[in-house]
Amino acid sequence: MDLDAPLTALRGVGPKQAERLGRLGLARTHDLLLHLPLRFEDRTRLTPIRALRPGSPALFEGRVEGTEVVNGRRRMLLVHLGDAGARILLRFFHFGERQQRAFGNGVRLRAYGEIRGMPGLPECVHPEYRILRGQPPPLEPCLTPVYPATEGVSQRLLRELVGAALPEAGRLPDLLPELRERDLPDLAEALEALHRPPPNRSLPAHAPRRSPALTRLVLEELCAHQLALMLHAGSRPRGRAPALRPAGQLWRQVVAELPFTLTGAQQRTIAEIQTDLGRQRPMNRLLQGDVGSGKTLVAVAAALTAIETGHQVAFMAPTELLARQHLRNLAAWLEPLGIAIAWLGGRQRKSERETLLSGLASGERALAVGTHALFQEQVAFARLGLTIIDEQHRFGVHQRMALRNKGAKLLPHQLIMTATPIPRTLAMSLYADLDQSVLDERPPGRTPVKTALISSERRDEVIARIRVACGDGVQAYWVCPLIEDSETLEAEAAETTAERLRAALPELRVERVHGRMKPAERDAVMDRFRSGAIDLLVATTVIEVGVDVPNANLMIIENAERMGLSQLHQLRGRVGRGRRASACVLLYRPPLGEVATERLEAMRRTDDGFEIAEVDLTIRGPGEMLGTRQTGERGYRVADWGRDQDLMEAATRLARQVFPDRQRTQALIRRWLGSAAHYGGVG
Ligand code: ADP
Ligand code: MG
Repeated sequence: MDLDAPLTALRGVGPKQAERLGRLGLARTHDLLLHLPLRFEDRTRLTPIRALRPGSPALFEGRVEGTEVVNGRRRMLLVHLGDAGARILLRFFHFGERQQRAFGNGVRLRAYGEIRGMPGLPECVHPEYRILRGQPPPLEPCLTPVYPATEGVSQRLLRELVGAALPEAGRLPDLLPELRERDLPDLAEALEALHRPPPNRSLPAHAPRRSPALTRLVLEELCAHQLALMLHAGSRPRGRAPALRPAGQLWRQVVAELPFTLTGAQQRTIAEIQTDLGRQRPMNRLLQGDVGSGKTLVAVAAALTAIETGHQVAFMAPTELLARQHLRNLAAWLEPLGIAIAWLGGRQRKSERETLLSGLASGERALAVGTHALFQEQVAFARLGLTIIDEQHRFGVHQRMALRNKGAKLLPHQLIMTATPIPRTLAMSLYADLDQSVLDERPPGRTPVKTALISSERRDEVIARIRVACGDGVQAYWVCPLIEDSETLEAEAAETTAERLRAALPELRVERVHGRMKPAERDAVMDRFRSGAIDLLVATTVIEVGVDVPNANLMIIENAERMGLSQLHQLRGRVGRGRRASACVLLYRPPLGEVATERLEAMRRTDDGFEIAEVDLTIRGPGEMLGTRQTGERGYRVADWGRDQDLMEAATRLARQVFPDRQRTQALIRRWLGSAAHYGGVG
């Protein structure tokens, strides 16, 4: 097996599958080795059905005692599974006729899934299962890894591919012999330990979160990123950007129309950006600002500086939902000035898209707004002067470079915005190549959001509270739990929760939105919510960023203890946008551990994003993997900027040692950031 070969060289991976795997950052065989499990499932032992308890996953066996298809709001297949007088109900929302027929009475199943329902009446939604015939197969000898996956890529495939690559790990060259002096496993050992831990039932609940094996990999990855930044910083003066020095007419027009005055922080930041844009040295600036700090106007000021001098602007956001929201906001400011905008989203008619593309190529359209679709080769600009990237940590360093290369002869200036505040020390090492502006002042006149921690046992009280609030004209969000590796399960949770809330609150208009809906359908729901036609919106974390509905004043977040603090902060930022007092209820499932309590208490205590980010970094609780792991921060493969802060310095020192060795530098960057990295001298 050639570890450098593209994945299509592997059995069972065709071009289509390879493209899907590419979405996970997997391009070459060795990438599989660096694709670490999110968590493990214990399928090394069976739990008798009578011993199943709601709230945790389990492997169980039983015989089919009956099936039925119910036609409620959603068609569902119910399978009753029994063993030794105890029963469990399996629910399937997606099922075929063949599957249904296979569940004949008396058929024996082995199934694995999260147990729900009530004690004594257990249920399991979409368990993984196999039909047992004859002698049951042996149980798994090792813990089963659960990998980050994506649509069309099953856990089974990932397990097979990683399993095939793992025996070759010993052939990966050791690029950091410096680490041998430390008491760390070598690369191959580390990979084996991370993908295939032995079952260890006496594993203490307070196992340290970062094993030596993981430390070994994290150090190497952080070192590779530092090397990339060092290379990039070294190459920076090579390009030139257009100096943008307009008279400022357009921006003055916008300011004159504002119903409020700019905050001091906005004025300062806009001045910093305008100074940068007036130079021939390409701007490379990170704008940090908490939710609601008014970043959009800063972006508008920057965009107008470019547009007034006849240049174009590309504005990119990480999700379609967020990009659309920006489109709406920007259009409100810019269209009255006669500025033509091109929207480049995922779904678009070809003819429409072509018109927009030619508008950009001719320079007729001054602003392009979209998702990563803006990166694509066919997108050409006549005179791109500025790129604005929202929520940059979701894109990763290399994409930031890719958009930069769109500027033809002159490089565009670059403004990166993030609503996830990053503590200063960390920001310096993560963004060594960026200048920074901070919007540290909120517009006046907001009422802070009141946050309460409530046990999920008191769910009924919370529902009663929604009834009262919505009866009073308030709109509310109900955010469903984060289920890390499965958009499908998350969507199911939203569907079921919406059904239950509809039943509990028949007088309210309840709808749901989740990642499994078609974008058009999702937009339609959001539009109805925005217009007030929905009282209670049940949502998955898709609403995390960007959604702006001022009349939504109440938010319930279920299983808040499972979410990262900055994610909770982002979610909570969706309320408190209007004049009315707002509330956020963090529902948690008891018992709450010490660390989880401390984290949620921090949410109650403050709504300052920077403070919350500091807390997130300093509390590195044992066994809190789910709680602190931020989904979406895919800039790193194995490192986690909260957890691994303490290694940053060592990694930087290591990088300085390695840097003079160009060959090793390039090999490390290639291994961790991919061969397409757009760094000076690499690629
Ligand atoms: P962010 O993107 O930083 O979360 P927005 O740019 O979306 O925040 O701004 C949030 C809201 O605050 C918007 O409705 C915006 O019009 C308003 N806003 C922005 N600047 C000010 C200001 N200086 N005074 C009052 N309101 C403001
Ligand atoms: Mg915003």
